[in-house]
Amino acid sequence: METKRRRIPGIFIYIGLLLLGLLIYMYISSGYRNEDTSYTNDNLKNDLKEDMVYAVTIQQNSEIPTGTVDVIFNDGTEKIFYTPDVSETGKLVEEHGEGVTFRMLDVKRESLLERFLPYIFMGIALAILAGIILAQSSAAGGGNGKILNFGKSRARKISDTKIKFSDVAGLVEEKEELEEIVDFLADPGKYIKLGARIPKGIILVGPPGTGKTLLAKAVSGEAGVPFFSISGSDFVEMFVGVGAARVRDLFEDAKKNSPCIVFIDEIDAVARRRGSGLGGGHDEREQTLNQLLVEMDGFAENSGIIVLAATNRVDILDPAILRPGRFDRRISVGRPDVKGREEILKVHTKNKPVGDDVDLNKIARTTSGFSGADLENLINESAISAAKDNRPYINNADIEKSFVKVGIGTEKRSRVVPEKERRITAYHESGHAILFHELSEVESVHSVSIIPNGVGAAGYTMPLPEDDNIFNTKKKMLQHIMVDFGGRIAEELIFEDVTTGASQDIKQATATARDMVVKYGFSEKVGPINYETNNDEEVFLGRDLGHARAFGENVATTIDEEVKKIIDYCYEEAKKIISANMDVLHKSAELLLEKEKIDGNEFDALFNDGAKLEPEM
Ligand code: ADP
Ligand code: MG
Ligand code: ZN
Repeated sequence: METKRRRIPGIFIYIGLLLLGLLIYMYISSGYRNEDTSYTNDNLKNDLKEDMVYAVTIQQNSEIPTGTVDVIFNDGTEKIFYTPDVSETGKLVEEHGEGVTFRMLDVKRESLLERFLPYIFMGIALAILAGIILAQSSAAGGGNGKILNFGKSRARKISDTKIKFSDVAGLVEEKEELEEIVDFLADPGKYIKLGARIPKGIILVGPPGTGKTLLAKAVSGEAGVPFFSISGSDFVEMFVGVGAARVRDLFEDAKKNSPCIVFIDEIDAVARRRGSGLGGGHDEREQTLNQLLVEMDGFAENSGIIVLAATNRVDILDPAILRPGRFDRRISVGRPDVKGREEILKVHTKNKPVGDDVDLNKIARTTSGFSGADLENLINESAISAAKDNRPYINNADIEKSFVKVGIGTEKRSRVVPEKERRITAYHESGHAILFHELSEVESVHSVSIIPNGVGAAGYTMPLPEDDNIFNTKKKMLQHIMVDFGGRIAEELIFEDVTTGASQDIKQATATARDMVVKYGFSEKVGPINYETNNDEEVFLGRDLGHARAFGENVATTIDEEVKKIIDYCYEEAKKIISANMDVLHKSAELLLEKEKIDGNEFDALFNDGAKLEPEM
C-alpha cells in the first residue's frame, strides 16, 4: 500500500523563517551577544599573530573605556568578548593584525542601530532565501556558502598594507606605470605646485589571480598611505540604497584620510552597462553605480585620492565609468610568461625551505597558463605535502603531486572504478595521446592518467606546455580539433558502443571550428568577416539578446556547413592516424591499466618513431 508523505505547507516555513529573520535582527541589534569570558586580549594577540583572524570589530560601551570585541576567524567562527579598555585592544589589532578588517564603533546607540540596518534586511532576506531554498530543497543540496557567510562581508576595510612592489613578481611594465601614482601619493604637493595632473581613476584589467589586488595594495604600501577597499560583489545581494550608502561612506572616509587609495574590486559587479537588465531588479546596482559616478566626479583632481579598480571583464562595463575624469587610465595585467612564472615562484618559495631537486625554472616551463594565484597555490600545496610527510623541506615529488592537484583536481585513488570503465578510459586517453604524439603543431605528451580526479573527469592526457607564442595558426587549430576527437575515435575503434565521455571534447572541438570560421576568417567561403554572436554573455545582461544575430539565414547556413566541413575533415584525419597506430593504442591502454598513470617518456617509448605528421586541409 502506498503511504502518503505528509508535508509541512510552504507558507509555515516562510512565516517561520521570517520570524527567524526578526529574531536575528533583534539579536544583532541588541549589540550584545553571548560573550566568551574565557577569551581575552592575550588570546586575541596570539590568534592575530597566527594569522587566524579575518576581522575585528570593537564596539565601545557607554562605560568608557570598556567595550565589546567581535572577532571573526578565517574559518568563519566568531568570538565575542569584553575588553576593559578598547584602545588597548585596538592597538593590539593595529600592531599584529596585518590585513585584518578592523573597525572601531563608537558609543552612539542610534548610530549602532543604523549600522545594523543592512543586517536586519539581510536577516529577512536570508529567511526568504532560505525559504526558497528549503522549498525547492532537493538532493542536490549542500550549504550555500554565500548565505551562511553573509555577516562576514564588511563592505569596507582600512588597512595599512605592508606589501611592496618587490612582493609583486614580474609585471614590470605595470609596476612602472603605477610608479608615478606612488610618487604622487607620497608627495602630492610636488605635483600640485607644478600643475601636473594625475589621473583620479585607474582600472586594472586582467584574468583572476593575476595580481591585480596585490598590485593595488603594493601601491598603497609603497606610498605609505591608507588603503580603503570595497568589492563590487559585496553589493550584489543587498537591498536598494545600501550599496549607494556604502559608497558614500567609503569616499567620506577616503576624503578624511587623503592621500590614500580607494580600491574597488570586481567593479563589473556594480558597473555593468545600465539599462540592460531583463525583468527589472537592478535598481540597487544602478543606484550604487550612480553613486560611484557622483563620488568620482565630486572630488577634484590632485585631491590626493586615487581610485583603483579591478575587473576581468572590461567589455561589460558601463562606458560612463571609463569617461575622462573617471577611470580614464587602463592597465592590463596578463597571465605571466615563463620568466614571470619563475619570478613568482621565487617570491613564494622565499620563506620556504626547498630541496636541491626542485628546479623553479623547470616548474615555470611546465606551468604555462597558470596565474600567479595558481602558482602560489602550487607552492602552498607542496608545502602541505612536505609537512604531511614530516619532511622539513619541499621536494620535487611534492611539486609534481601538487601540480596535478592544482592543474586538474585531486587525484582520488579511493573510488573503485569498474573494470569496463577503466578500459574505456584507458583507450579514450590513449587516443588523445597518440594524436598529441603524432601531430606536428601540438605539443608532445607530458602525462596520461586514468585516475579519476573526483570531480567528473575519468582521466586526462596532459600535453607538455606550449611555448608562450601568442599566434595560433589555422594548421594548429585543425590539429587541436583532431586531438579533441582522439578519445571518441579510440572508443569507436575498440568497443561496440561509444560513451558520453567525449561530450567535453566535442564541445571544445566545435567551439574551435566555429571560431575558425566566424572569428578568424579561415573559411574561404565565409571570408574574413566577423560573425561572432556573443551569446555567451550572462543572460541578465540582456543587452545583446535583442540583436543576437546580425546576419541572414544564408550566411548562417554557410557558417554551419563550413564548421561541419572542418569537423568532418578533422575527424577523418584523426581516425586515419589512430588506425595506423593500433598497436600503440593497445600497448598504451594496457600500460595504463597496469600503472594507472604514465609519463611522456614511457608513452613515447611505445612508438617506433618516424617524422611528425602534417595533414593539410
Ligand atoms: P587578482 O586580484 O588579479 O584576482 P590577486 O592579486 O588577488 O589576483 O592574487 C592572488 C594571489 O596570487 C596573491 O595574493 C599572490 O599570492 C599570488 N600572486 C598573483 N600574482 C602574483 C605576482 N605577480 N607575484 C606574486 N604573487 C602573485
Ligand atoms: Mg583580486
Ligand atoms: Zn577526452
